[in-house]
Amino acid sequence: MKSRSIIAAGLIGAAVASVAVWVIHARMVGHWLEVHTGTVDEPGPYYGFWSGFGSDLTEFAIIGTIATGVYQLVKKYNCHQPGCWRVGNHPAAGGQFSLCYRHHPDYQGKKPTLELIQRLHNEHLERQAAMLGKLHDVHQHVTNKPAAANGVSGPGAPAAQAARSGNTQADPGTPDGTGDPM
Ligand SMILES: [Zn+2]
Repeated sequence: MKSRSIIAAGLIGAAVASVAVWVIHARMVGHWLEVHTGTVDEPGPYYGFWSGFGSDLTEFAIIGTIATGVYQLVKKYNCHQPGCWRVGNHPAAGGQFSLCYRHHPDYQGKKPTLELIQRLHNEHLERQAAMLGKLHDVHQHVTNKPAAANGVSGPGAPAAQAARSGNTQADPGTPDGTGDPM
């Protein structure tokens, strides 16, 4: 306990001392700060820097920020074909690429005509309808399968599944062969 209070007293003493030193030297330190940050009016060794090149630093920073932003935007929106500077607003490969009309494989290097737009639109609709139909089939298949499996009784089920899934040559033999000795 004693050593702790000594340490505390020492810290307080140090704090008081540093405040006293600060107060005594405040004028000097303040002057030093003013000179080195360029806020003081009188010409010092840094005056030339802050009124000359130094005052342009913020402008460089702003220009750099704008340039970076523009670069990012260009990278995001320009055509993904290397060396092409057109705006790429036509997605290809399911949105993986954004390409300009010239480089999009569907447009064959020309601006899309009304006829092409309508053809592609219809193709898209047909594809979607086909996909939905397939999904419907898969769904029906999946929902029907468990019902069929449940309908067959215990011993018959594995043979029926094996016959359905694969090797028609081996299947008729194996279930009977393994079944009979047991
Ligand atoms: Zn392009």
